[in-house]
Amino acid sequence: MPKQIILKHNRHESLKRFHPWIFSGAVAKYIDKPDEGDVVDIFTADNRFIARGHYQTGSIICRVLTFEDENIDKNFWHKRISNAYKLREKSGLAQNRYTTAYRLIHGEGDMLPGLIIDIYGKIAVMQTHSTGMFCERQIICETLTEIFGSKLTAVYDKSSSTLPFNANQNVKDEYIFGNNGKNEEIILENGNKFIVNPEAGQKTGFFIDQRENRKILEQYTNKSTVLNAFCYTGGFSVSAFRGGANLVHSVDSSQKAIELAQKNIELNFDNINHQTFVEDAFSFIRNAENSFYDVIILDPPAFAKHNSALKNAIQAYKRLNAAAIAIIKPGGILFTFSCSQAVDRTNFRNAVFSAAAINKRNARILHQLTQPADHPVNIYHPESEYLKGLVLYIE
Ligand code: SAH
Repeated sequence: MPKQIILKHNRHESLKRFHPWIFSGAVAKYIDKPDEGDVVDIFTADNRFIARGHYQTGSIICRVLTFEDENIDKNFWHKRISNAYKLREKSGLAQNRYTTAYRLIHGEGDMLPGLIIDIYGKIAVMQTHSTGMFCERQIICETLTEIFGSKLTAVYDKSSSTLPFNANQNVKDEYIFGNNGKNEEIILENGNKFIVNPEAGQKTGFFIDQRENRKILEQYTNKSTVLNAFCYTGGFSVSAFRGGANLVHSVDSSQKAIELAQKNIELNFDNINHQTFVEDAFSFIRNAENSFYDVIILDPPAFAKHNSALKNAIQAYKRLNAAAIAIIKPGGILFTFSCSQAVDRTNFRNAVFSAAAINKRNARILHQLTQPADHPVNIYHPESEYLKGLVLYIE
């Protein structure tokens, strides 16, 4: 029997609308104080069962796994994970000849809060963001191997950097199933090749969420000079060359990222004009030659990790975009992104609006971009929408 938490009067309203988080302020009492990561039952003030989820200390004390009175057992995991897999099959991502990397589990977007699983060819990389999910990792791994069969040779758990501060500090990243002895995998994205190293790479190893946006970039780069700022593994640089770019400058503050970007370019093209810079992107842009670039891509890391940092983050987006708009060639194309969940679409668009206005440049929105179907947004949890992008024609 899971331990029970009773909510205060009328504090179950958001649960009635299937929002999967319960905040500590809503709790009236604990019947047996649960331990970190336990499965707990949530009851309304008048003692009706309303949800079951993972308990955790902190401001979100429970992440809901189900609103039904069902056991969190093998059957549950099988149902949820195979459901997620079916959705990737439906959207044409699982078993695709030209794309072999996709997100299988996107936390709340797949009704599994706290769990991320990315598939790179035959390797699954798992990151748990809650103690509860971390405790379930073996059963999740077993379920994955059952569903995938021979399509999966290894499962790598990379939770040491994503678990909250109050979880066990001695967690180490490790293979919890298989390990073919190599730590690199070559994946395909729309036919382009990329090296993915789950052990050494940022996040799970690759930014899968820009797949469709990279494809759109190809339309705009023929015979152009391109700046890819915050390039990481060079995803947008490869797309720029695929679209016929004459020259691409890839900029990232991380030496490792730049080395990987260069390798990825070489994996896809011979004799191509790719130049790399290990540099702060802000200062690179400020020092760049005026009207040199036809196309600029800005895909910075999240500037606001929490709501408290919102104002500074918006200012940072404004400064970055203003600097890029100042130097882009008239008739140029700007691809600009924000992956900060706290910055919503309107905030971001206003920041870019101000950046264009400061420069007194005409700017027209050609595309409004977002995250792809393997990063689904749970309609009851708008927080699972995080990636926003604009493609602008700057005169
Ligand atoms: N565009 C990439 C993902 C970018 S992730 C893709 O398509 O895969 C953000 C990147 O910004 C990281 O590689 C990080 O090393 C880099 N970064 C962070 N701060 C930076 C800064 N001030 N200047 C340049 N790069 C920075």
